[in-house]
Amino acid sequence: TVSTEPKRTTKETHPHLPPGLILDENGKVCKVCNTWADISKIKKKKVSSNSDESKGNISSSGLGSMAGFASMMNSSPSSSSTIIKDRKDCPADNELLGRSTWTFLHTTASYYPLKANERQQIQMKNLLESLSIFYPCNWCSKDFQKDIIKNPPIVNGRENLMKWLCERHNEVNRKLQKPEFICETKILDQRWKDGPED
Ligand code: FAD
Repeated sequence: TVSTEPKRTTKETHPHLPPGLILDENGKVCKVCNTWADISKIKKKKVSSNSDESKGNISSSGLGSMAGFASMMNSSPSSSSTIIKDRKDCPADNELLGRSTWTFLHTTASYYPLKANERQQIQMKNLLESLSIFYPCNWCSKDFQKDIIKNPPIVNGRENLMKWLCERHNEVNRKLQKPEFICETKILDQRWKDGPED
């Protein structure tokens, strides 16, 4: 799969922001495309060069909300670089959104009927296609759309669906240079349905 290259901040285009942050289709820093660690650099940068904000750079480029988002990670006014450990009430970053979505997908696949009827197959296809369109990280969704056009969902039953999904997840793992998972039923069942053997 040819991956979509996201647009990122650079020193030239966004001198007041850390370089390398992924931008959304409107040119704003994308919350669900970056990680908390990436986004927290905004605050650090802001603290180390306060003048940026006072010059209006952050708000003038529509990034005020990102600064607020980043500041939610700071535990107290006296400790601006300490990161909150409990982020359960914060918006999702790329990692939380990704992990939660994969958890939903792999778990759903592992409870899918052994032999799915026609209606269930159509519903599963619709679910996967809709997800590929509405997944909020725009550049992730573009690649996922391309991938499922190239490798259409195999939805006739649980085992095939789990393996198909495992391959799709591995496609993303390869792109992100993460280790690949072994797409065997026994291993997938252990990870997503039964848990490890005692
Ligand atoms: P995750 O990759 O989220 O995996 C969670 C757990 O699943 C792992 O701990 C492991 O136990 C298990 N697992 C890993 N691989 C497999 C597999 N092949 N089969 C079954 N189980 C497995 N992020 C980007 O930065 N760029 C993208 O383009 C991008 N595209 C995405 C597309 C989709 C459809 C989704 C759902 C997520 C995407 N993400 C993308 C997010 C990314 O895949 C990860 O979820 C995120 O980086 C967090 O990774 P993680 O290391 O916590 O584990």
